[in-house]
Amino acid sequence: MKKIIDRIKSGDFERDDLIAVLSNKNADDDSYLFSLADSVRREKYGRDVYIRGLIEISNYCKNNCLYCGIRRDNRGAERYRLSEEEILSCADEGYLLGFRTFVLQGGEDNHFTDDVICSLIEKIKGKYPDVAITLSLGERGRESFERLKKAGADRYLLRHETADETHYGKLHPVEMKYETRMKSLYDLKELGFQVGAGCMVGSPFQTVENLADDLMFFKKFQPQMVGIGPFIPSSNTPFENESQGTLRDTLCMVALTRLILPSALIPSTTALGTISPDGREMGLKAGANVVMPNLSPKKFRKLYSIYDNKIGTGSESAEGLKILKEQVERAGYEIVVARGDFKE
Ligand code: SAH
Repeated sequence: MKKIIDRIKSGDFERDDLIAVLSNKNADDDSYLFSLADSVRREKYGRDVYIRGLIEISNYCKNNCLYCGIRRDNRGAERYRLSEEEILSCADEGYLLGFRTFVLQGGEDNHFTDDVICSLIEKIKGKYPDVAITLSLGERGRESFERLKKAGADRYLLRHETADETHYGKLHPVEMKYETRMKSLYDLKELGFQVGAGCMVGSPFQTVENLADDLMFFKKFQPQMVGIGPFIPSSNTPFENESQGTLRDTLCMVALTRLILPSALIPSTTALGTISPDGREMGLKAGANVVMPNLSPKKFRKLYSIYDNKIGTGSESAEGLKILKEQVERAGYEIVVARGDFKE
């Protein structure tokens, strides 16, 4: 197995090699994989961990993804939307705390037209020219992406969710098309965004072959950022009684992604921290190099409930930055104040 892992690192591998590693049940091999991923990350980024201030701007969503707690049909979700003033004051608070990237994330909320988002980008950048703006607002169409880029957005996160079209169809309603998701990703790349793809691990109907295909997609698409977290069931969704993704499988996906994309910016996700108390430290030790503390106003945080029991007020929150710094240092890394751009 170690030979196969070495081969993946060298770039000379096939889909079957990924399947072999993902289905392997030997803990020693997993440790080998994680430490190899860590050494690749250290070669590129040293001990640096980049922080991104996550601002969850709205949980209104016109989409109906079967896994997501803020899907349109979840009548149990109490909806909120931040005002422009609220978003700008999150940015003020974040800048003081040392954040040099803000991620505006939300459901697909028609209130946030191009005009509204462009004005937000211009205001944040006008006040803080040294920050990077990352958007994570779903599918908007090429013209919209182009306007957002021109207004000064630097990065866009849009997880592909699964690289297998049939599997995609089982996670989404018919009106959501795999093709549209993929086209959006290629459009974003062409328009000059640093692009983030990604997937959930352990989502319903997912096979080990699907996960291997996600990794093959990373190799082909070469995203600058990759978000990988375990699927966690969310109440009041069609998947509420499904089981969650495992820590081991998620860490393996993070580590394999690091071997395949040595320069990628890979967050150790909130979902990883939700399924295990030291999940995020383990993610860092398996090749991740980014954390995304929550900067959203506290009173709305629990409403951005894409899955159950989402953590948000401890070290994963922006106020908890001091605790996070200590945790990261204990794991052997260091939080830096920087935009944390992709290094070729
Ligand atoms: N509307 C935006 C942002 C979605 S939320 C978009 O479409 O990109 C960000 C990510 O959370 C999603 O891409 C999805 O991968 C993840 N997510 C949603 N529901 C989840 C769940 N139940 N468990 C784990 N991750 C989930």
